[in-house]
Amino acid sequence: MADTTRTLPCRACGTPLRHVFVDLGMSPVSNAMRLPAEAHLAEAFYPLRTFVCEACKLVQIEDVQPAETHFHGSYTYFSSYSKSWLEHARRYAEMMTSRFGLGPSSKVVEVASNDGYLLQYFKAQGIPVLGIDPAANCAEVAERERGIPTLVRFFGAATAREVAESGKADVIAGNNVLAHVPDINDFVSGLKLLLKDSGVITIEFPHLLRLIEAKYFDTIYHEHYSYLSLLAVERLFARHGLTVFDVEELPTHGGSLRIFAGHTGATPAASDRLIAFRGREANAGLDDLASYGSFAAEVRHAKRALLSTLISLKEKGARIVAYGAAAKGNTLLNYCGIRGDFLDYAVDASPHKQGLLLPGTALPVHAPERIFETKPDYVLILPWNLKDEIIGQMAGIRAWGGQFIVPLPEPQIIP
Ligand SMILES: [Zn+2]
Repeated sequence: MADTTRTLPCRACGTPLRHVFVDLGMSPVSNAMRLPAEAHLAEAFYPLRTFVCEACKLVQIEDVQPAETHFHGSYTYFSSYSKSWLEHARRYAEMMTSRFGLGPSSKVVEVASNDGYLLQYFKAQGIPVLGIDPAANCAEVAERERGIPTLVRFFGAATAREVAESGKADVIAGNNVLAHVPDINDFVSGLKLLLKDSGVITIEFPHLLRLIEAKYFDTIYHEHYSYLSLLAVERLFARHGLTVFDVEELPTHGGSLRIFAGHTGATPAASDRLIAFRGREANAGLDDLASYGSFAAEVRHAKRALLSTLISLKEKGARIVAYGAAAKGNTLLNYCGIRGDFLDYAVDASPHKQGLLLPGTALPVHAPERIFETKPDYVLILPWNLKDEIIGQMAGIRAWGGQFIVPLPEPQIIP
């Protein structure tokens, strides 16, 4: 925790940011994968540093505004490539439809609707849907393959006004998007504008408390602007005339929350589990600045523990590869300095990433089949949140004695 040379305002409440939460050094932006032909060119690195706001307790990334984080109009991530994520979406649609009595006269809007992975389950029940997503390539897949009408826009107050002209929403869903918007106030004011008087907003986000408890520092990357607690989100929503009335814990992304909110004055009373959850965060000290102080030391310990494991394996001559080319893997590899000296290559199931180099570490990304051709001794699982799914898919490595390494919270070798 130290003062810095420039003081930025909290992106939620505007209070000057004076307290560093964790500093992961210099890192390239995680989506800046490169072509092998670009490997000899200079690569841009930016500070990867998070602060905690002393007033509203929002943990947030230092805004460095590198050109690469500006959105280029297409994603390389398609939600439908993850089977467990599809199942999560299907169960959500079922729950919402029965709990809030949705039907053919309702309107469900999803913000950051990606390739229509979630709205397809509402549409299948005859409920009118609208997706909003800035990625034209994802929107095109949503429309063509799933028949999900999708507006290609960033979401905020302006988009909300435009969509509200043809009717406000009974349900607005936003999964893993709130943490990824730089202007969080514009986004939440858009939710307020688009919601019917009796409507419900559900927002899912990885829970800051899990990040702290499990040392999931690799979920910190430049495009992930905010690290959210229930406490900080309730304060943010309240400033926009929205009230959280329920919360659910989810296993996704290592531990997420799904909050339910509506217009202030029009929501049910706070649920028992919401009250209990506020208590848990209070007990963990999330409203006390001092509680945020020990995380940085724990992160440095996690780095040393992982490196010790990898060094000892390499000293014995092990061949190690990485599975997964997602953002969190890039933070882990760059912060820990794990490059071609530890890992032969990485694999990823998405054809959009195969043939490219990981940012910073320049590890080549291949299709998962490559593992069965080269038979490495260890597969380091970078997206640990999907480890069960990946271990299931890659169980064949046991045929030659291959084992898995899960990097966090403590390195674990799984035969
Ligand atoms: Zn603040």
